[in-house]
Amino acid sequence: AALDAIEASQPTINAFTHVDRETALAAAAVVDAKRAAGGKLGSLAGVPVAVKDVLCTRDMPTTCSSKMLKDFRPPYDAGVVERLRAADAVIVGKTNMDEFAMGASTESSAFGVTRNPWDTTRIPGGSSGGAAACVAAGTVPLSLGTDTGGSIRQPAAMCGVTGLKPTYGRVSRYGLIAFASSLDQVGPIAWSVPDVALMLQAIAGYDHRDSTSLNIDISHYTDVLSSSDLRGLKIGILRDSMDRDGVEDSVRKATMDAAGVFESIGAEIVEIDLPHTDYWVPTYYVIAPSEASSNLSRYDGAHYGHRSTDSSNSDKLGPLVTSYCRSRAEGFGDEVKRRIMVGTYALSEGYADQYYSQALKVRRLIKGDYDAAFSQVDLLLGPVTPTPAFPLGSKIDDPIQMYLCDLFTVGANLAGVPAISLPAGVDASGLPVAIQLQAPVLEESRLLFAGA
Ligand code: GLN
Repeated sequence: AALDAIEASQPTINAFTHVDRETALAAAAVVDAKRAAGGKLGSLAGVPVAVKDVLCTRDMPTTCSSKMLKDFRPPYDAGVVERLRAADAVIVGKTNMDEFAMGASTESSAFGVTRNPWDTTRIPGGSSGGAAACVAAGTVPLSLGTDTGGSIRQPAAMCGVTGLKPTYGRVSRYGLIAFASSLDQVGPIAWSVPDVALMLQAIAGYDHRDSTSLNIDISHYTDVLSSSDLRGLKIGILRDSMDRDGVEDSVRKATMDAAGVFESIGAEIVEIDLPHTDYWVPTYYVIAPSEASSNLSRYDGAHYGHRSTDSSNSDKLGPLVTSYCRSRAEGFGDEVKRRIMVGTYALSEGYADQYYSQALKVRRLIKGDYDAAFSQVDLLLGPVTPTPAFPLGSKIDDPIQMYLCDLFTVGANLAGVPAISLPAGVDASGLPVAIQLQAPVLEESRLLFAGA
């Protein structure tokens, strides 16, 4: 049924870069056989799951929605993919994304845009746009996204589904193709909080192959979902941060309404401020491109990725440099090139102190704001995005406007804390609006409890 639904939705939504009916049915048959033989089944037995195309899969291509990796077939599974298979999930395909996860609209994919199922003239958010759209379209109940600066939460918000960015180090990144290593995390996208909890339970935990993985026991995420009594919980609402230019009333109203709901079931609401919020986007857009420029240096047309076949004589550079330049010029799209240039500049001698080192210091201040806030409250409540889903094409030629979409999400990545995006109704034109909860490190259970 999932495969048929994907096939039917693909021409309009284009959520997938790759769907392999035979591989998926073969995986499902293995689970069926196990069931028939009376074997012990995993927690996701037979559940069709979609995986963002930035995570390695041994039986399907892994392209990062880039021409650079369009023919890449990894010889191994990412740690999270192994865990999904161990839980008997059936991986049905790979989902579309902004190229190398750089973007907020899924318009920078080499496989064409993904459209928002609520209104196909609009973007689904990004970079995990395909992962959110396929769940919103009802084709699969669960998908895996990644979040470097909001890429799980922002598309989940714009597609009216639920998405969780775990604590940095909670979920293995072995086999995740790196964008910005100090920020990247893998996490679940699903219809509801219980489904997110179920998937998080399956993928979280220590992996010795990821040097940033936390060797700390995981919580019982699904145990916290039954109570709807929030007495004793103190929630700080990020009131000031909503009074900015560009934040729509529907977004502000959804957050205030949610505060009212939390209060009505026992939570205490207080206003709180993270004083360095204005520096989040500038800090992120120095650190993320810097790390990206380093991570993407491996795609040189020799060791990894697309190699230019243009062997025309290249004057003074010599054949190696020419091949390197042409391979990268042909393989990477505009946004990826922009990030590589910004990052290389910010890291170069004479500028690194001014930009990169400075950004690291500001990041400490931002983390300090979170520590101070969480010494007073249990959770932070605010918006996910300044606006609901915007029309396709409306920001793609204006990088600054696109970057400003990340206003509310990049803080959690810079501080390493977990955060969840929750559907919170629709605006006057029927587009989904969402709220965000953020918690101290490793308090995913708290997000799931209040979120449910
Ligand atoms: N929109 C942000 C960016 O373009 C976040 C992307 C992400 O989380 N992968 O960098």
